[in-house]
Amino acid sequence: MPKTSETQLEIDLSALEHNYRYLRSLIPSNTKFLAVVKAFAYGSEAVAIAKKLETLGADYFAVAYVKEGVALRQAGITTPILVLHPQTVHFNELMENCLEPSLYSVKVLKEFLEAAQNNGQSNYPVHIKFNTGLNRLGFSGEHIDEIMDLIRNRGEIKITSFFSHLAATEDPNEKAFTLKQIGTFNKIVPEFEEKLGYSPLKHILNTSGILNYKAAQFDMVRSGIGLYGYGNDPKFDPYLKPVATLKTVISQIHRIAPHESVGYNRAFTSKDYRVTATLPLGHADGIGRQYGQGKAMVNVKGKMAPLIGNVCMDMIMIDVTDIECQEGDEVIIFGEKPNADEFAAFADTISYELLTGISQRVTRIIKG
Ligand SMILES: *Cc1c(COP(=O)(O)O)cnc(C)c1O
Repeated sequence: MPKTSETQLEIDLSALEHNYRYLRSLIPSNTKFLAVVKAFAYGSEAVAIAKKLETLGADYFAVAYVKEGVALRQAGITTPILVLHPQTVHFNELMENCLEPSLYSVKVLKEFLEAAQNNGQSNYPVHIKFNTGLNRLGFSGEHIDEIMDLIRNRGEIKITSFFSHLAATEDPNEKAFTLKQIGTFNKIVPEFEEKLGYSPLKHILNTSGILNYKAAQFDMVRSGIGLYGYGNDPKFDPYLKPVATLKTVISQIHRIAPHESVGYNRAFTSKDYRVTATLPLGHADGIGRQYGQGKAMVNVKGKMAPLIGNVCMDMIMIDVTDIECQEGDEVIIFGEKPNADEFAAFADTISYELLTGISQRVTRIIKG
């Protein structure tokens, strides 16, 4: 292992493979696996992640926006890619790159039909999204006849899948609500299929759904966070491995006398003698100010050191009074310990936000 020489996000493809195989082991072999690689593969490196998953046999990818899908196509990814939230201005680019849109409203469906017609498309694969209670994007069951009226006798599109998204699969207290969402999906789908005359793929589960609602696997599952090593509950930690580790090095060590202050706004004032270490990453790298002033801890040689004072744009300061360390030593911000769930919790947020917020300034190192 080369010595860590700057702030870097290490992406471990063998951990990704482990997580993929674990999640795959929870579903029947004929159930398709869609890997969600939106937002730079949850802040990691979408091309490296997608290439690895493609060789492992992922059936589908999903991104949020068209430009994310275009980047994968330009890198040579040939697996089908579902675009979860395409903006209608990008429909031509979407078709040029063989990306498959999620269509979720009458307006978006009409605009896609028109774009597909202008493009001379026939049987273009699309995915129809239903709102079953998240109230974010999606048609309701009441739209079926209107959709049928729009698509009947027109050959531009072919519905590849029906899907919906669950609001609270990680929360056992919301089990009744989740089952109600699944029930709504189960009611809409056969009614639509009968009118449509063919049977698209069905899918509704995200990672926590795969882990907690095995009965609703349908024809495909969609996993994001699980692939990156998190199951939204520490009880799944033994089965999943963090893919991303954010590491840095100590730039400078200071010995602080009593009553001195550290950092902007003098947010930390010492009561006694302290030793601090300055690290080369800050809120511009994705470690927000919420983590400062003693809230978060990082790993220095196996021991936990708190952030002190305010997080700066490019630096943070930590208290290493009780830790033997030197300038140039490695510091783990998150990875195995603390993991991204634990680190995010220091600032009352979740691994998703922490991981996707690591800015593009941080060097990505791919290993495995
Ligand atoms: C982001 C997203 C997912 C992935 O969810 P995870 O909890 O990360 O597995 C699945 N489906 C949709 C519609 C999404 O937007």
